[in-house]
Amino acid sequence: MRFLSTLALGAIVLPVVAQAADPHSYAQPQDVVVTHIDLALKIDFPQRQLDSIATLSLDWKNASAHDLVLDTENLAIGSIEAVDAAGHATALKYALATPAANMGAKLTIAAPKHPRAVRIAYRTAPNASGLQWLTAAQTADRKLPFLFSQSEATHARSWIPLQDSPAIRFTYRAHVTAPKDVRVVMSAPNDPKHALDGSFDFAQTHPIPSYLMAIAAGDIDARETGPRSAVYAEPSVVAKAAREFEDTEKMIATTEKLYGPYRWGRYDILVLPPSFPFGGMENPNMTFATPTIVVGDKSLVSVISHELAHSWSGNLVTNATWRDGWLNEGFTTYVQGRITEALYGQRQETEETLLAIRNLEKTIGKMPENAQRLAPQPRDMDADDELSDVAYDKGSWFLRALEVKFGREHFDTWLKGYFDHFAWHSITTEQMLAYLKPNLIDKYPGKMRWDEVKEWVYGAGIPKDAPIPDSPRFDAIDKERAAFLAGTLAADKLDARTWNTQEWMYFLDRLPDAPPLAPMQQLDAAWHLTGTPNAEIGMRWYVHAIAAGDLAVWPSAAEHMTRIGRLYLTLPVYKAFCATPEGFAYSQKVYARARAGYHPLTQMAVERLFARTRAAEAKG
Ligand SMILES: [Zn+2]
Repeated sequence: MRFLSTLALGAIVLPVVAQAADPHSYAQPQDVVVTHIDLALKIDFPQRQLDSIATLSLDWKNASAHDLVLDTENLAIGSIEAVDAAGHATALKYALATPAANMGAKLTIAAPKHPRAVRIAYRTAPNASGLQWLTAAQTADRKLPFLFSQSEATHARSWIPLQDSPAIRFTYRAHVTAPKDVRVVMSAPNDPKHALDGSFDFAQTHPIPSYLMAIAAGDIDARETGPRSAVYAEPSVVAKAAREFEDTEKMIATTEKLYGPYRWGRYDILVLPPSFPFGGMENPNMTFATPTIVVGDKSLVSVISHELAHSWSGNLVTNATWRDGWLNEGFTTYVQGRITEALYGQRQETEETLLAIRNLEKTIGKMPENAQRLAPQPRDMDADDELSDVAYDKGSWFLRALEVKFGREHFDTWLKGYFDHFAWHSITTEQMLAYLKPNLIDKYPGKMRWDEVKEWVYGAGIPKDAPIPDSPRFDAIDKERAAFLAGTLAADKLDARTWNTQEWMYFLDRLPDAPPLAPMQQLDAAWHLTGTPNAEIGMRWYVHAIAAGDLAVWPSAAEHMTRIGRLYLTLPVYKAFCATPEGFAYSQKVYARARAGYHPLTQMAVERLFARTRAAEAKG
């Protein structure tokens, strides 16, 4: 996932489930493991629900186990049956517990005879946290309604009853029915030539963790971009998206050269409506992506490099719990950088890395000490919070440090070996370290001490000798920004005509948190930042202009917030408004209009921010 969550989700504290290895799941994998799921799903747009039957194949591990315990959230269970080898069904007794915050409801199925499969008939809720239902009016082409899922980290349980822990892997098949003209896609091989006849079948033959279960349906067109890749999007978006992502085959081939074969078959990209709350989601065979990266100049396609990289780090070798999330996101961010370097050059890669590094340096000290660790103590963390900038950017920084110390050749050999060694497995931080020590650290003595490794993984903050890449262009921008703020360089004399997206992002990122008003107005007059179609630049511009007190940008900021539901691009603008009572009042009006178009996760994040702002105002 490309997420950038520092600002996104507040600290919701989870009750820790003492006996389970994964504190975010009720599953008891020491007793029984789900190995395969057969799904029959009917997509009901008017009722905003999936009418479903899930048949779970079981591998019993403990002869004295009595129950199959599953994770569910907001599901209406119709019936639960044991199914024997001949297909005969017997009703089973079950208990659905009272739901707990962020955990959902524990479903305990009495199954002392250890059936080989259990069949559950159920319906999802219209407000299921892992599904978003859009009306036709909320889509780009306004013709058909749209549905998409976002299961990571713990939302698969809101549309399938299962063991919702990344340590458990299963294959799946699905038969999905939908209204005619609707195309259904899933996190499995998809056929871009499939007829829109209301009936779709899928088979994911590789074992995947639950958070990679994904489905989308709507007015979706497909355009092939290579021998094993296509872009899926609404008809009015698909041609532009296919141009933006025309390098997909080159990306796959580049990654294969570095880290071994792409093992999944096809790699397709689905461009979602603007309410998708994240940058991208690495659903196997079918990356889900925000339309905010389709800007016309490929300057933001690193989100696609990131999601493709997950086909190795994350989907092939998976974090066993969300506390080990840096194994997914840190490794992926590192691989993303290597793809960017190979395809778009060193300058692009260095600039993207420096943007992330400088942002992390600014924010990490403000986080609780435990959250500053790559592998935090497994307590007091929401599964979504464990995927913070630390997992992404400190994680990739650590791998970059290893690359610098051991040299690219040795490090690449090690990393390729790591993907081979742990392929199709879910592993912990400690399993990764046990592979790192003999195969890299001890193999080339004198390059990096083991206590340095431990400081990176278990220490707070950033180690002092963390390598920082050089960027003469960013250095020049630092000088220009300083002269501009000092009043010795006029806004229209900035050398910005040749700045790319990342260089604008860097210039804006390092403005003072609350800059003086006059220079901001001059900047806007010279470079027309208000109303920019590039949402990365827009988010940074509005945040600073609002903080400077520039009321003239408010309507365009409101338009940005209403149009874009991606958390990372919208929430900071809300946050900037919440700094003053007038801004807070205005942002609540914007939210009232925008809310219906937002994903449940975006709604939750904005409402938490408002609650915190209200509490702070009450304290005075
Ligand atoms: Zn990711």
